[in-house]
Amino acid sequence: MSVRKWARIRSPWLIHFNTGGCNGCDIEFVAAITPRFDVERFGIKLQGSPRHADVLGVTGPITMQITKRLVRIYRQMPEPKFVVAIGTCATSGGPFKDCYSVHGGVDTVIPVDVYIPGCPPKPEAIIYGIAKLLNKLSGSGSGGEDNGGHTQKT
Ligand code: SF4
Repeated sequence: MSVRKWARIRSPWLIHFNTGGCNGCDIEFVAAITPRFDVERFGIKLQGSPRHADVLGVTGPITMQITKRLVRIYRQMPEPKFVVAIGTCATSGGPFKDCYSVHGGVDTVIPVDVYIPGCPPKPEAIIYGIAKLLNKLSGSGSGGEDNGGHTQKT
C-alpha cells in the first residue's frame, strides 16, 4: 500500500453539503461528528473547503436550484474524491422524488461511492457508511486512486 493511500484511509477529510433536505439528515450528520461518537478516532475531520476535502457527504434531494452548486463543489475537490449519499433523499430523492423541482438522488448529477439509506439515518449508520468507504479504499477492489463512477449500496 502506498503512503498516499495509507494516509488517505487513515485521515479522510469530509465536507458536508445539504442540497435541499429537511435538515433531519443534517442533524444526524452533525451528531455523528460530535465527541459523543468521536469520528476523529478514525481520522475523519470536517473541512470547510471542498479544496481540502476527500469525501463529499451529501444530504437532501437534488433540487434544480442546487444542481450547479453541487457540481461546482464536486469539481473543486482534488482527485481522488469520493461521494457519500446520506439519507433516503440523497440516495433516491425520497419523498421528493418526481417533484417538479427535483432531479432525484445525488447519482443523477455526480457519481456516488456509498449510499446510506434512512430517513434520517442514525449517526451509527452514517459512521458505518463512511467506514464502508474506508474499507473499500483499503481493499484490493475498486477505489483508492479514482472514483471511476463506481457505486456501492451499504
Ligand atoms: S431523508 Fe428524511 S430526514 Fe433526510 S432530508 Fe430527506 S426527508 Fe429529511
